[in-house]
Amino acid sequence: MKADSLKYQRLRDDMVKTQIEARGVSDPAVLAAMRKVPRHLFVSEALRDQAYGDFPLPIGYDQTISQPYIVAEMTEALQLNKEDRVLEIGTGSGYQAAVCAEIAYRVYTIERIHALYLKARRFFDKLHYHNIVTRYSDGTAGWKEESPFDAIIVTAGAPEIPQTLVSQLAMGGRLVIPVGDRFSQELVKLIRDEKGIRTVSLGGCRFVKLVGEHGWKEA
Ligand code: SAH
Repeated sequence: MKADSLKYQRLRDDMVKTQIEARGVSDPAVLAAMRKVPRHLFVSEALRDQAYGDFPLPIGYDQTISQPYIVAEMTEALQLNKEDRVLEIGTGSGYQAAVCAEIAYRVYTIERIHALYLKARRFFDKLHYHNIVTRYSDGTAGWKEESPFDAIIVTAGAPEIPQTLVSQLAMGGRLVIPVGDRFSQELVKLIRDEKGIRTVSLGGCRFVKLVGEHGWKEA
């Protein structure tokens, strides 16, 4: 067990150095979280040894855990502080939520596939991520009762930016979301400040579909 975790720690340190720092992610809190969260435990046992590779991996139900670099890039774009309350749409494996939970005060995460929701919820308990709150619903409606949020991250591709989510951003809040067609998207960052909403493009990406009332109508 001990030797095993040492092996994975080495793979993680390597991943951060060659895939993440090398591509320009520099926020120390993000790098520390990526070095710490045991990504291999968020994939099925058969895929464990591939967990630190430079690619996404299947997690069942036609969904994927994102490539490590994308997780780091999106987390950095959220500009998280340790007091921040974060909303994530698309819990999936739970890995992105865990990375955010290492940095922020609390993470609220929503998943629309019941089996993935249940699995992630049990897993957060097992790993003692007590600052992650899970919900089974259509995340395109956001989480009104817990809003506003300092940061919102959408980890599935949307045809357009759901205004429901924009309206749940706190003053100074950041929203990161892939927007485009079903084959490719642009990673977009919105910032709410006194003057209104500012939009910045972070470049191309490819995600599974955001399915819901304010997303794609069918999977
Ligand atoms: N953040 C995840 C990525 C999972 S892939 C991780 O770290 O593993 C995207 C996930 O978004 C899938 O699990 C998919 O079921 C979910 N999803 C898609 N549309 C959704 C919606 N409207 N509400 C909540 N979850 C959604």
